[in-house]
Amino acid sequence: MAEPLGRAVGLPTAKALEAHLGLVTVGDLLRHYPRDYRRRGQLTDLSGLEVGEHATVLARVSSVRHRKMQRRPGYVVDVVVEDGAVRVPLTFFPRHGGALAHLLREMVVGRTGLFSGKVNLYRGSLQLVHPEHHMSGPRGGPEVGQDDDAAGGAGGAEDLAAEGAAMDAFLSGVLPIYPATQGVQSWTIAKAVGIVLDVLAEEDVPEPLPDMVLARHGFPGLLDALRAAHQPQHPGHEERALERLRYEEAFVLQAELARRRLRVGTQTAVPRRPRPDGLLAAFDERLPFALTDGQREVGEEVAADLARTAPMHRLLQGEVGSGKTVVALRAMLAVVDAGGQAALLAPTEVLAAQHHRSLTAMLGDLAEAGTLGGADVATRVALLTGSLGARARREALLQAASGEAGIVVGTHALLQEAVQFADLGLVVVDEQHRFGVEQRDALRAKASATPHLLVMTATPIPRTVAMTSFGDLETSVLRGLPAGRSPIASHAVNAGNAAWVARMWQRVREEVDAGRQAYVVCPTIGDEEGAGPGRGEGVPGADGPAEEPPGGSGREEDRVLVSTAAVDALLAEEPSLAGVRRGVLHGRMPPEEKDAVMRSFAAGDLDVLVATTVVEVGVDVPNATCMVVMDADRFGISQLHQLRGRVGRGGHAGTCFLLSPLPEHAPGVARLKSVAATTDGFALAELDLETRGEGDVLGARQSGVRSSLRLLRVVRDVDVIEEARSDAAQVLAVDPELRRHPALAGAVTELLRPQHESFLERG
Ligand code: ADP
Ligand code: MG
Repeated sequence: MAEPLGRAVGLPTAKALEAHLGLVTVGDLLRHYPRDYRRRGQLTDLSGLEVGEHATVLARVSSVRHRKMQRRPGYVVDVVVEDGAVRVPLTFFPRHGGALAHLLREMVVGRTGLFSGKVNLYRGSLQLVHPEHHMSGPRGGPEVGQDDDAAGGAGGAEDLAAEGAAMDAFLSGVLPIYPATQGVQSWTIAKAVGIVLDVLAEEDVPEPLPDMVLARHGFPGLLDALRAAHQPQHPGHEERALERLRYEEAFVLQAELARRRLRVGTQTAVPRRPRPDGLLAAFDERLPFALTDGQREVGEEVAADLARTAPMHRLLQGEVGSGKTVVALRAMLAVVDAGGQAALLAPTEVLAAQHHRSLTAMLGDLAEAGTLGGADVATRVALLTGSLGARARREALLQAASGEAGIVVGTHALLQEAVQFADLGLVVVDEQHRFGVEQRDALRAKASATPHLLVMTATPIPRTVAMTSFGDLETSVLRGLPAGRSPIASHAVNAGNAAWVARMWQRVREEVDAGRQAYVVCPTIGDEEGAGPGRGEGVPGADGPAEEPPGGSGREEDRVLVSTAAVDALLAEEPSLAGVRRGVLHGRMPPEEKDAVMRSFAAGDLDVLVATTVVEVGVDVPNATCMVVMDADRFGISQLHQLRGRVGRGGHAGTCFLLSPLPEHAPGVARLKSVAATTDGFALAELDLETRGEGDVLGARQSGVRSSLRLLRVVRDVDVIEEARSDAAQVLAVDPELRRHPALAGAVTELLRPQHESFLERG
């Protein structure tokens, strides 16, 4: 299974499989499962195509037209294929008469074939551009009429190409449809898989599932399962195989998570209990509000963890604004009370600086130890980021090393060698998904005993994802928002409707006139280098511009995304926003400049902040009540939910506009409408999982590169995951290092290969 593909399928194919699909070994190829199966005559349901996907469809040619290009040599051939109900246009651009004639012999009305290409939106309807094709049945005759629908069904038996015959044989069984790309077609993959399966023997395929598990579920062995999944002999033959392979994914993952849990259980931590007359007590006394029930409950869970000799390992989930920071701060104060220190890691400098500001502000004189105004029990909060000047940095390092700073806030800079703590007792990670396992381990290595760990996330995580991505953490959910929080009203707005857009800017103006502030979020920055589509900050699915077809533009992927620079210029001209004070914030600005802009927005010196998604996490300006998201369809569901959580934090009602130029019926607009329709983050997280697919959500999918979870769907497969979790726990309980299960240990190692690591990194 670890054998490189070159030897098995030949170098050219192997190269293509690696370049386009990231498949390197025989095992990689065999784990590249079909995503669909077609029976002869069963055409693909074309209504299910989605913009942006690379689709392989079995369809019938229903019309063919061609014409000469106007301004350059070559032809345009417009073919329409159908599934009996829906028609989808394909466009080909043969460069010369020979290519045209060849194509017209292939594209005969009534013929079926496989068509494979990227689904684009062109003037409001779906099309495949430059599709590859693989036809079955007789070809058309050699004579070709100009500018006419080609005659259907022409051509005799003698014309039946060998390839066409092979294709027909292929179509008579069950036809696997593989996830494919422009560079490697489904049929190429099927062929390579066939070659590999032909020579594979039982002993080449180590079985990762323990006998006990196979027997309990009555699953087929791995080789049988692979054969049935790739080459089902009759319809439905693949089902049991896929069940087994799906279960296997869950099981291997759960085995690793069980192993991590067991290891954590063997580590020791210093128990930290607050003093009754200490910092935490003093802080609670000064709190200007009562803790919510959720904050109290979670606070107790955390306090109980901190008092144990085993390290806390807890994930704290809570909607944006649910008050996680207060919970984290109280945990940090308990540790400081007990003589230890706490480190708070934020994903960006902006957020670290902001955490530093808000912790210092919340603590007041409790953060002024050693100064005249400081309270008796006070400590200090140090900020340590990569952009500090040499002096400030030395000072912060000294405060951390001496223990003078009870709390140290920072970014990755905290992980550097030079940073030492006197007694690090607690690590709080904000928005953990941006940190890797090694980084967390590096920080924890700075303490003599294992520090307690609290991970905070505002992205609601469905229970099954918590069981997979975060499977080695206990979870707490902070429910409910602090009193006085107003719900956010969200609206999807069509960017093509000038009247609505004008009305929207007017709403922004009304907020500003009422003394409030607004964010305008853009997918890209749009300065000198880096300008143009797809250079966004954290915008999923913003692909670079694809090859331009000679036919014209207007395609979805040629769309130039709105940039902060462009919006800033646009708003300068917008009549209803005359005189409004604007600022621009994005990730490529120098840190001091970012910080200065953030500060003046927080201070109310700016009315409108035009920004990239740097405002996504944790930026807290309670006076901001309005948000406009440009090209909102380019953002993920959870990300939009996260973004709009930036407004309506101060007790004033919040409004969020989700702008998109897409036509009414586009799937992207449907997503925006669901975001607008609910404020339930958990419901949206599940929807996000369903619409984006696991790979993205688990952070593992990069375009074209395989994800480790190919079959498992964490929303749908709750039962599978739960069974696998309990099976794995049993196996690991007797064999924690998998000495008696070498094939399983190998599968776990495979799972942890660098390409796959990212989806475990949140644990
Ligand atoms: P999160 O980090 O979960 O997004 P924060 O902890 O930043 O939320 O809290 C958001 C805002 O709510 C802050 O301004 C905070 O001071 C305030 N807040 C937190 N807890 C309460 C509470 N129990 N009652 C009223 N306001 C609160
Ligand atoms: Mg926060």
